[in-house]
Amino acid sequence: MKPADVETFFATLKAANPQPASELVYSSVFELLAAVLLSAQATDVSVNKATRRLFAVAPSPQRMLALGLDGVIEHIKTIGLFRSKAKHLLETCRLLIERHGGRVPRSREALEALPGVGRKTANVVLNVAFGEPTLAVDTHIFRVGNRTGLAPGKTPLAVELKLLQRVPAAYLEDAHHWLILHGRYVCQARKPRCWDCAVADVCDFRPKPPRP
Ligand code: SF4
Repeated sequence: MKPADVETFFATLKAANPQPASELVYSSVFELLAAVLLSAQATDVSVNKATRRLFAVAPSPQRMLALGLDGVIEHIKTIGLFRSKAKHLLETCRLLIERHGGRVPRSREALEALPGVGRKTANVVLNVAFGEPTLAVDTHIFRVGNRTGLAPGKTPLAVELKLLQRVPAAYLEDAHHWLILHGRYVCQARKPRCWDCAVADVCDFRPKPPRP
């Protein structure tokens, strides 16, 4: 994709959705971190269903720890990998209290030192909670980056680094949301909805499937 087309790509997504937001429901940085940690290989809808009740009783690391392993599992057992996620969440809470006064740290290094928190989760927290221009590459962004020619790469990290080079500064803070939403609802995995796509003119993907 040519640089001028990258500009058009993001200007078009921005015009359609000027203030994009995460579809995860949370009301604090701690809840965002917990929700992202729980969302690996699970849909945002399933995570929101579980966290609605979990966050009502455990909105802080201290209250989460007090709930204990069985208590956390009871709330999240509808989500895939719930046992290991519950353990990671509780260990993360313990470290937040021990090392960070119960607050979520604003550094990649400190975030990635928490159990269950990898580069993608750290990027989401840095971007969504703290407004840092980071880009968490999930399955949707990986696909959209490669398919459109925007940021081709063999690994999520390669796509992330390419996006950081190519996305114009003005769009960097919200690019994560636009790309995820575009991948989730338009540029879908099995069959991209090119006939419905606002950025079809600047997308390199060929041949584009016709409207069914
Ligand atoms: S034109 Fe098709 S392949 Fe390209 S971004 Fe749109 S939906 Fe995806």
